[in-house]
Amino acid sequence: MRFLILSDVHGNDPALAAVLAAEEGRACEEVVLLGDLVGYGADPNRVIERLRGLDRPLHAVRGNHDRLAAGLDDGVAFNEVARAAGLWTRERLTAENRRWLLALAAGPRRLDGVLAYCHGSPADEDDYLFSRADASSALAAATEAVTFFGHTHVACAFRAGAGEIELLVPSASGDHLDLAPGARHLVNPGSVGQPRDHDPRAAFLVYDRDSGRVTWHRTDYDRARARSRILEAGLPPMLAERLEWGV
Ligand code: ZN
Repeated sequence: MRFLILSDVHGNDPALAAVLAAEEGRACEEVVLLGDLVGYGADPNRVIERLRGLDRPLHAVRGNHDRLAAGLDDGVAFNEVARAAGLWTRERLTAENRRWLLALAAGPRRLDGVLAYCHGSPADEDDYLFSRADASSALAAATEAVTFFGHTHVACAFRAGAGEIELLVPSASGDHLDLAPGARHLVNPGSVGQPRDHDPRAAFLVYDRDSGRVTWHRTDYDRARARSRILEAGLPPMLAERLEWGV
């Protein structure tokens, strides 16, 4: 059984479309969404509708930008650009898509014995896991052998076995990690719609439960279109520029 793991789509429909095309043929039966489906990008409704239209079981948690867009958060903790984009998104969501966002669960959630998933950390949905120190309390809170997380927009994994916590970073599309028996893992697929690990390609991950392998993938997408959509929408221009650099 294979799972397609996606995080931080951020309203970038050209990136999401490219990811769904690229994962075709990888036989993923179910889809796990790690939050921040909207915010920053110019196509929040299209992204939600594309995901809702998938003909596979969908497991999803909300991200901080989803909360802001849905009206569950006032955005005072956001930086100015993120808040402006969140409020822009809130105004444009259809009533139905807003209701769907509002109904997203807080993480962590789990599929018992298979995997757990959250936006930021198993300890707190808003925590950022960048370092091995950050991962320490998160791994202590993890209930499954593997927990998928997003929020940082950086593809990586933390592994806690008998020794020190290890940080593993994929260096190329197709790099994989075989889950170690008896160890706990936190795995970040990277971001579909706004990568910040200096690779501007859209990121996605395939988890093969039977072999215990996670594989990171990157795919090119129509960045020019995503950029022009942001500029046409009147969103802050830096949101368009950063897509080119992957930061
Ligand atoms: Zn995000």
